[in-house]
Order: sequence, then structure tokens, then C-alpha cells
Amino acid sequence: MRWLLCWLLLLPQWTLCQQYVPGQTYWSADGYIEYRCGSLPLIITAPHGGYLSPDSLPTRVCPGATTVQDGFTLELAQAIDSMYALNHACRPHVIISHLHRRKLDPNRDSSEASCDDARSMAIWRAFHGFVQAARDTVQQRHGKGLLLDLHGHAHTLQRIELGYQLTGDHLRSGDSAINSAFRAQRSGIRSLVMLNLGAQTHSQLLRGPQALGTWLHASGYPSVPSQQDPTPQAGEPFFSGGYITERHGSMFGGTVDAIQLEHYMTGIRNTAANRARYADTLRLVTNRFLATHYFGSTAFLTACVAAPNALPLQGHSSPWFRLYPNPGSAFYLDSDANAELQLFDIHGKRMFKQSVAAGTQLISPALPAGVYLLMLQSEKQLVGWVRWVKTQ
Ligand SMILES: [Zn+2]
Repeated sequence: MRWLLCWLLLLPQWTLCQQYVPGQTYWSADGYIEYRCGSLPLIITAPHGGYLSPDSLPTRVCPGATTVQDGFTLELAQAIDSMYALNHACRPHVIISHLHRRKLDPNRDSSEASCDDARSMAIWRAFHGFVQAARDTVQQRHGKGLLLDLHGHAHTLQRIELGYQLTGDHLRSGDSAINSAFRAQRSGIRSLVMLNLGAQTHSQLLRGPQALGTWLHASGYPSVPSQQDPTPQAGEPFFSGGYITERHGSMFGGTVDAIQLEHYMTGIRNTAANRARYADTLRLVTNRFLATHYFGSTAFLTACVAAPNALPLQGHSSPWFRLYPNPGSAFYLDSDANAELQLFDIHGKRMFKQSVAAGTQLISPALPAGVYLLMLQSEKQLVGWVRWVKTQ
């Protein structure tokens, strides 16, 4: 009926008509934009970490076009998703551009993003259509939520720059100016300023004791603005936010806020171990921020247990397969159907793949000890996920 309605109305945005299922991954028609549909009130975007430079798309050479990749921010988004998968039943929405920035810049308006190439512009629309779909879902399911837009900077000062659509001048203008209705209405967290549970002011939310930057700083990742570093000094470089946080935050309405996170390289992005450590810190800090200011508890982390991406911590009791022992050095898989088994490491890299027949069999993957995500997909396309801990 919904599809029929869409046909009859000839809606231009197909994304309005499509149902996305938590735990499933969707790709734009060209395959360059990835959307991992989640179930948390959290959206992660990675617009500048892509690697693909197909000849079929023109290189962006229009005046003012920035084409530098934000190194390893694609992997950082994957690591954050993996950390949620390892620790909670629910996962964030994740939208990734796999195109190199020399081909597309989703963090610009459509003209600058594509240098007015029609095909690139269609890919840009796919990126923002996925973000919009995630936003709509978050608003419908949770009433409110948060988008974190991931970037990397090359500034000398090694600190995370949090972009709330407030420039360095704005942050230096003092708390009373920041707390004015005029400035709050132009903030990427406009909705939170009006609705937050502790009735905190705009300035407190940016750099008070319970600000995101304050908790990141206290966790070993220097950040501005924060209580420890309230504002960039005059003359210091600072990214204040971009097209994604402006368009998809609450500045122009809605109850999903947006913050741009500009990360330094060494210690955050440069190695898989650093990305994993930072991703886990960001997970903890974001959960705390959402619980403190948005929801009053961490119940949002488990509210999706019945969703397809639920990840039982030990063992498994899926309707159609069972795995045991867990943890273990190997495991028995008891499946009702022929299926394909895959194991992923915490960075999302596939480490093992095997076809399995219905019945019980012993699986002994030659992998180092560690935590893996096991995915089993049956011939009927039923998909199940388990966290499997491999011992020595
Ligand atoms: Zn960037």
C-alpha cells in the first residue's frame, strides 16, 4: 500500500518510501554510499574518509574545492560501530561515503560537493537521503537524538575541535552572549539547549562539567571547547562545523542535534589500536552525554533487544542456530539450515568464512585469541549475529 501510494504521488525521494531495518546495511544505487541502519538515538557520519576514485566520475577541480582526505576517519566510524556491537545490544546509525573527497564532498552544498556534475550530485543526494532517513527514524523511535560528524584536521594544536556552529569569535564572546536566544537558535544543539534534562545553559552544555568536550578531555583526549579549554585563542585555527551539522542538526528544527568532531591524527586515527581505544572512549562519553542530558538513564542502550541486530553476550539461542561453548578455543555450531558463516574482528574486517551444513559441526577457526563478531546467514536469508570470544 505504501509503495502504491508512492507510485501514485510520484514522490521524488524514494527514501521517504523505503523501510530500513536495524542491523541491515544499505548501499546507494552506485555502491558508493553505505548506510548501516541502527537502533540507537545516535547517528555517525564519515564524509571524508573514502578511498574510491572511479574514472567514471569527474575530479573536483572547481574553484575553492578542498580535496584532501581525512585519513582513517572511515575506519574510525567502523571502529565506533564495532565498539557498540561488542558492548551493547543496540548499534548507531552509520553513514559512510566511500568516494575519495576529490570525487565528492558530502560536507558541502550540492554544487560545491559535486562541482555541478549531475552524476556526482545524485550520489550526494543519496548520502543526505540516508542521513535524513536515520534522523527521521531516531525522532520517531526516541523522540530526540544526536549526530556526530567525524573528521580529521592537520592543525598543529593536538586537540579535538568540537563544532557546534559556533566560531572561535563566538566562543570567546563570553557566556552571556553564548546563552542569548540569538546564539542558541543558531547552534547545532539548539534543541538540546531548549530541552535538556538538567536545564543547563548553552554555555554549560558546550564547556561545563558535563559537556562532551570536558569528558573527552578528562579521558585523555584534549578537546575544545571544554571546561579545561573553553575556547580557541584568537589566531588559533578552529573548525566550527560544516554543511552536515548545519543541515542535519537542530538549528533549522527537529530534535536531533549535531556536533562536528575534528580529530588530530597521532593517538586517535593513526593506528588500529589507537582508533579502537578512542572509539571505545567516545562510546562511553557519548552514552553518558545522552543519558545525562537527553534520556535520564542508559535504557536506550538495551531498548532494541528484540531488534535484528541484538547481540547476546554469551552463547546464543536464535530460533534457528546455537553456538557453544562461548568463550572457547573452538565452537560447535548447531544450525537448522545450510548457511554461510563469517567472523569479523572488532574493526569490521572479515577474518574467516565457511559454508556450514544443517546439523551440528565443530568449527575451529585459525585465528588469534580475541573478540569476534560471528554472522550466520541461512539460505532463507535469515541473519544472526553473536559475539564470540576466542580463548587460546
Ligand atoms: Zn573533513
